[in-house]
Amino acid sequence: MGDRWHVEVDRSLCIGAAMCTNHAPDRFRLDSARQSHAVDPDTDANEQVLAAAEGCPVEAITITLNGSGEPVFPPEQ
Ligand code: SF4
Repeated sequence: MGDRWHVEVDRSLCIGAAMCTNHAPDRFRLDSARQSHAVDPDTDANEQVLAAAEGCPVEAITITLNGSGEPVFPPEQ
């Protein structure tokens, strides 16, 4: 606990499938082009955000640790 995350959506990958907004409606918004963005890109570690990243069919959502940049999702191979 206590980790801070940085959340990014790669708009070149996002296909507007809206899984992220289903998993974490407070955390992701679709714009008028049906592209997702993080409402708050710098956030406390949060299970809903992780579920959204895991649920994205095209892995457009990346989460890194704020500060170190260490990958949270997708996990390092
Ligand atoms: S789940 Fe992935 S593809 Fe779908 S809107 Fe969210 S970021 Fe885009």
